Amino acid sequence: MVPPARVRAIRTSLLRWYDAHEQPFPWRSARDPYAAMVAAVAAQQTQMARVLEIYDRWMAAFPTLPVLAQAGRDEVLRVWGRAGYPQRAAYLHQAAQHCVEEHGGALPPDPEALLALPGVGPFTAAIIRTFGFGEDAAAVDTNVVRVIGRVLFGDLQPARETPAAAVGAMAERLLPPGEAARWNPALMDYGALVCLPRPRCQACVLASVCAARPRFQAGETAEPVRAQGAWEGSDRQWRGRIMAHLRQRGPTTVSALMRHLRPGQERARVRGLLDGLQRDGLAWVRGARCGLGDPPAEDGPG
Ligand code: SF4
Repeated sequence: MVPPARVRAIRTSLLRWYDAHEQPFPWRSARDPYAAMVAAVAAQQTQMARVLEIYDRWMAAFPTLPVLAQAGRDEVLRVWGRAGYPQRAAYLHQAAQHCVEEHGGALPPDPEALLALPGVGPFTAAIIRTFGFGEDAAAVDTNVVRVIGRVLFGDLQPARETPAAAVGAMAERLLPPGEAARWNPALMDYGALVCLPRPRCQACVLASVCAARPRFQAGETAEPVRAQGAWEGSDRQWRGRIMAHLRQRGPTTVSALMRHLRPGQERARVRGLLDGLQRDGLAWVRGARCGLGDPPAEDGPG
C-alpha cells in the first residue's frame, strides 16, 4: 500500500513536469475516439517521432472510421507503407468494419466492447477512453511500466522484474481522478524522455520519491532489454521485403516476386512466409498470382 502523501507527491511532481513539457500531439486534444485509436495502434512498438508521421498520413487518407471501413485492404496497407508491423493496419481496418457493422459506424464507449475489437488491447482501449471519451482509464505501455516499476517497486528493469498485475494495480492507484488526459501522457512521456532504459536520474523530478534511485546512485545499472532478435535474414525482414514489393508492384506472379527477392536456398521458407501473410490478411495468393491485401473480386471465391 502506497501512503497517500507519496501518491500525492508523485502526482504533483509529474503533472507539473508535464505542464512544462507537454507535447501537442493532435490526438491528445482532438476528443475523437477514432483519432485516439489510430494513435494508440501506431504507437505500439514505434517511437513517438514516427507515430506522428504515420498518424498524419493515415488521417489524411482515412479521416473517419466509415471512410476507413470502406477502403480496400490493399489501399490501407499502402497508406501504412513502411511503418512496420503491418498487421496493425489490418487490425485498424477490421476494427473500423466491425464498428460500421455492429456499432453504427462509431467506436463504442463500453470498455468490454472496445476490447472485443480486433487489435484493441487494454492500452489502446485506455487511450480511446481517455482521449476519445474523456474518461479515467489508466494506460500502461512499456514506458509506464518502467516508471512505475522503478519509482514504486525499486526494480531497475521493470519489464522483466515487476509483475504486470502489480504495475496495473499501481497504475490505477496513481491515476488522479478526472485527470487521465494529462496523467497518462505525463507518465508515458516521462518514461520516453527522462526515465529511459538508461535513466536520467540527475534531471528527474521524481528522484526524491523513487525507490530505484538509491540503487542507480550506488552504481547499479540497467542493461537495455533486447526487444527483438537479429533483423538480418529474419522472418520479419523477409516479410517486410515481400510486402514492400507487393506495395510497389501491385498484383504480380509468385515467380516474379521470387525473381525480385532472390531467396536462393530460402525459397521454400519465403514461400511459406507469403502464405503466412495471406493468413494474416495482408496478402493474397491465387495459383501462380499474388498481391497485396484481399484478392481482386474476379479472383475471389464464387
Ligand atoms: S530517479 Fe531515475 S529511476 Fe527513478 S524515476 Fe527518476 S529517472 Fe527513473
